[in-house]
Amino acid sequence: RAKESGESHPAFFEASMGETAAESFRIERELRAGIPRGELRLFLQPQFSASGDMVGAEALVRWQHPQRGLVAPGVFVPIAEESDLIVELGIWVMNEACRLIAVAARQGLPLALSVNISPRHFRRPEFNSWVREVLDRTGAEPARLTLEITEGLIIDNVSDVVAKMNELSALGIRFSIDDFGTGYSSLAYLKRLPIDELKIDKTFVQDAPHDPSDAALVETILAVARQLQLKVVAEGVETAEQAEFLNSRGKVVHQGYLFGRPAPADEWMARWTAKAGADA
Ligand code: C2E
Ligand code: MG
Ligand code: MG
Ligand code: MG
Repeated sequence: RAKESGESHPAFFEASMGETAAESFRIERELRAGIPRGELRLFLQPQFSASGDMVGAEALVRWQHPQRGLVAPGVFVPIAEESDLIVELGIWVMNEACRLIAVAARQGLPLALSVNISPRHFRRPEFNSWVREVLDRTGAEPARLTLEITEGLIIDNVSDVVAKMNELSALGIRFSIDDFGTGYSSLAYLKRLPIDELKIDKTFVQDAPHDPSDAALVETILAVARQLQLKVVAEGVETAEQAEFLNSRGKVVHQGYLFGRPAPADEWMARWTAKAGADA
């Protein structure tokens, strides 16, 4: 077929398409088997206020594959999101994150964690009761948990989403809009939903010091956040110049390689508890 249409490298095209589909299928199958075998790892990346206090951390999943080594979420999360596998993954991450919040609290460390929530998982009818169950079982304080959602979730079935978010918000759980500014939703939802935080996408953060339109976007997000009294987290802060740009424009929490890379949760926990002990 490709030959008839005059395509010059039909074999290459078809082979690479085939490889991609087969590869995704293999990743899905191996991940499905790997989760119950304990192959997921929780990494944390700290977030800092402008004055340098650590105010929280984001939970970021990794996959310790027996042959491929440590696999980044960009490789397997999009594949997991095409099926209920993302729910299995989300359950594991939430259990781990809440367990860490509770462990930290028992050690006198008021750790707050942000967890990425997939729309498919959030839309499950039992999502709220499941979150309550995890909090009860682990003893994690709801106010120490932030759920990161994306604009895509909000676009469809708004009233159902509002009701669910309100219920969780009433427990003390916080909500953040991840990759803010990259979606297509209207700003009106910010007033209707119990949102506490906006996360500026790293593409805007990284280009803002030199690109006037990215600078304007960041300034607009900060203005909206000020008006609605929302916290702002900038993700992907890599340079002092980016950090200074943000600090000169408003009140921003920084998350990025400049301040700390994602690292295994136990490593960060050991460091933070040692520091909390030294400060006490
Ligand atoms: P995200 O939630 O927007 O997470 C931020 C990403 O930016 C992370 O990539 C983080 O490592 C990266 N990052 C942080 N600081 C910097 C920086 O200074 N420079 C650069 N270049 N990158 C930085 P990561 O860990 O590879 O995760 C990618 C995406 O995978 C996440 O984007 C999120 O959408 C998804 N993801 C990760 N963990 C989970 C999870 O547990 N559940 C779900 N549903 N999705 C997850
Ligand atoms: Mg996130
Ligand atoms: Mg993000
Ligand atoms: Mg993202």
